[in-house]
Amino acid sequence: MGGSAVSAHGINSMFWNTTQDNTRRQIDIVALGIVTASILLFVAVGSAIGPSVVRSLSGGGPGPNAFLLNAFLLNIAIIIFGWSRYRELCAEIAARRQAEREALRMASTDAMTGFLNRRSFDAGVAALLAQTAAGNRSLALVMIDLDNFKQVNDYNGHAVGDLLLRECARRMTAVFPANALIGRIGGDEFAAALLFDPRRPGTMERTATALVTAIAQPLQVGDVFIDTTASVGLARSDQLEADHRDAAALLDMADVAMYHAKRQGRNAYAWFEPHMADEMRFRSELEQGIREGIGRGEFVPFYEQQIDLMTGELTGFEMLARWDSPQFGLIAPDIFIPVAEEIGAIGDLSQSVIAQALEDARTWDSKLTLAVNISPVQLRDPWFAQKLLHLLVDANFPPQRLEIEITESCLHDNLAQVSAIVTSLKNQGVCVSLDDFGTGYSSIGQLRHIPFDRIKIDRSFVSRLIEDKDSAAIVRAIAVLGEGLDMPVTAEGIETQDVLEHLRQFAGITGQGYLYGRPRRAHELSDWLESGKPDADEDPLARRA
Ligand code: C2E
Ligand code: MG
Ligand code: MG
Repeated sequence: MGGSAVSAHGINSMFWNTTQDNTRRQIDIVALGIVTASILLFVAVGSAIGPSVVRSLSGGGPGPNAFLLNAFLLNIAIIIFGWSRYRELCAEIAARRQAEREALRMASTDAMTGFLNRRSFDAGVAALLAQTAAGNRSLALVMIDLDNFKQVNDYNGHAVGDLLLRECARRMTAVFPANALIGRIGGDEFAAALLFDPRRPGTMERTATALVTAIAQPLQVGDVFIDTTASVGLARSDQLEADHRDAAALLDMADVAMYHAKRQGRNAYAWFEPHMADEMRFRSELEQGIREGIGRGEFVPFYEQQIDLMTGELTGFEMLARWDSPQFGLIAPDIFIPVAEEIGAIGDLSQSVIAQALEDARTWDSKLTLAVNISPVQLRDPWFAQKLLHLLVDANFPPQRLEIEITESCLHDNLAQVSAIVTSLKNQGVCVSLDDFGTGYSSIGQLRHIPFDRIKIDRSFVSRLIEDKDSAAIVRAIAVLGEGLDMPVTAEGIETQDVLEHLRQFAGITGQGYLYGRPRRAHELSDWLESGKPDADEDPLARRA
């Protein structure tokens, strides 16, 4: 913090000194004029009355002229007054200078950490960059983002969040050299700029390692230990293109490197490399493509069969979204859903595919259900239930045939709100399943908070059922749990007949997987349904027999 305070002063000192010097010079000239005039007058009057005063004191003549004597005394008073006024003015200037310095500090720094704010940091980086043009030093830009700050704030409250930010700032100050420029440039985003010898990049690497290690140390607040980590991106001025040597470009490069470190698993640092910029470009094309693709109807529903494993009967379909992009081709949801969530487009995307799915499902046999996946981000929207019911009314689709699938991670978010949304949907007749069960670390106790209608066993356990004893044990445990809680169970990811046979030992279990065919588009599905095969594609067991 000390380092940045010095630097903040440095950036603005030129402006500061000019203003101060002008004011002081004006006062000096006035004061000097008054004192000079008074001294001249003092000397002139003193020499005029001096001899008569001496004569009068020695009894040799009349006293000094009364007018001149008064003028002399007045002159002394003016000198004393002038001096004391000068002293007062100096004190006033000192106080004003202090106040201005304080105002300047407040305008250029972040109150929470004492680091530079974004504007002053950018200005400081530009000034340091200019210094590298002539010398043989390089400027390193270090971008630091705390990895789980939002969760800390949400779970522990803002006071603890603030405490964590201040503590991280303290640790950064300890790691960076005193002459580094350090700024807080966003809520949990920090940046530092420091000159280094480009022939010794190891110095920067040691600093980055020390930084990541320092931030990862748990912070104790009362009885609680707060864990946080940082993702750090580094870029150096000699990586800048010759015609693009500006501070913004350097900050962007460090930012790209920081995102790379985050995607690589966080709690790490990465130097900027040009291919990362391509990835970022791809990412921003993806974001733009998603935003525009929703309006153009490029997100389309595919359907996967859900089967009653005991009878082999088709019970319904799970809708799985695909992006039919003219630019990128057919894209799987694992690619676009997380991006849509991050850019706040998941609500619109989901509504668009669900609306299409409801239209499709209306043409199916009325016994068949439609399951749709809902993102945890959508459950943060307090109007989610109303929006979904609105879609059902618009499509004139019976709520009893709709099942929404939510993942365990929803239970970590805001259990009270999720519970309220689920209850309101259930009151309208919509069913709710817990998707990918076994992967999200939810406690069985949490299951009681939400009145789920179904548990879906994650396919990672189902697909390894035969060769892996642990997976088989987990599947059995979940099937027993479902039976005990009176909740039907669905096994996802059935790929082989051996797995299917194994699962058939559990009464009432339903399943889905590539054994029954890949997810299909609506028109392929309706052709198949109309071909008169209401029971699964063909019973895989029957086929084998
Ligand atoms: P999920 O809901 O668990 O869906 C099952 C995923 O497993 C699907 O992948 C499906 O194609 C795949 N799958 C099914 N059977 C098998 C099998 O036998 N073997 C293998 N290897 N895979 C199988 P997909 O379609 O890529 O979807 C991935 C995830 O994306 C879904 O997992 C779901 O969580 C999410 N998702 C899909 N559509 C949407 C949507 O409209 N909204 C939201 N929020 N998420 C969606
Ligand atoms: Mg699902
Ligand atoms: Mg699943």
